[in-house]
Amino acid sequence: MEGGEAMTTATLTAEFKDQQRRRLERERQQILERITALAAAEQALAESQGEESDAGGGQADVASDIAEQALDLTLERAERDHLAQVDAALRRLEEDRYGVCDECGLPIPVERLQVLPWAHLCVRCAEAAQKGHHGRGERQMSCKDRLEDFLRRNHVSYQVQHHPVAYTAQEVAASEHVPGKKLVKVVVAATNGSLYLLALPATHRVDLNEVERVVGRAPVRLAHEEELAAALPDCEVGAMPPFGNLYGLPVYVDKALTEDDVIVFQAGTHTDTISMPYADFERLVKPIVGRFARHV
Ligand SMILES: [Zn+2]
Repeated sequence: MEGGEAMTTATLTAEFKDQQRRRLERERQQILERITALAAAEQALAESQGEESDAGGGQADVASDIAEQALDLTLERAERDHLAQVDAALRRLEEDRYGVCDECGLPIPVERLQVLPWAHLCVRCAEAAQKGHHGRGERQMSCKDRLEDFLRRNHVSYQVQHHPVAYTAQEVAASEHVPGKKLVKVVVAATNGSLYLLALPATHRVDLNEVERVVGRAPVRLAHEEELAAALPDCEVGAMPPFGNLYGLPVYVDKALTEDDVIVFQAGTHTDTISMPYADFERLVKPIVGRFARHV
């Protein structure tokens, strides 16, 4: 075939585009159903927590419920990210820009579009983005790769858990229900000109007044998404690992986290977690330990 190189969206047949539109609309419907199911699971969990605390239920149960809730939210966020990709692809079809790489403007091969109807980058640009520079949605590997590389070089025995979005929240939560493990929540706080990475149990909430006391500066606020994207460019927002050392950010750990043998945290993506001994984390990151979080 002639001019394969210059093939543009104009050469995608109307029939192919119709087929892709139907697939994207079906995908969209399925995502919405999964989000509804996750929201229902969160609701049910919130109600059962109410009952448990009325009945004086065990603290461990409440903690694991909250970990489950955090994972529900993680999964919901991953679904929403995917929904945004699907919506963007539908918009490209609408505006007759479908099938053209966002980065280099070359056509995305039909075979790729058949596998990933929402693809917005050609293979080469997607690979470049994965190696960790820019591009949306496909950059998350590099944070995890960098982190794993760092852990391996420092002889840490760690485990990676991958949670395909297709898993139910219950299945993911079940895999985390190991006694003595604690899910870490990472929050980035900001003062005028400085960012601080705060690590606390997922069962806790940050108290900004206490953070001001611990970092010795005020006022402290939560970092904006743009600040996060600039400081941690290869992490999905809300999935930062507590390794500020990889980003030149000081790390503060709430005292409650230091009581656990094993910590579990997101590895820069909403679908991968890493578990490792807390002692190794402390040895490598040398966090400042303080009290700035309260049990929810
Ligand atoms: Zn490209």
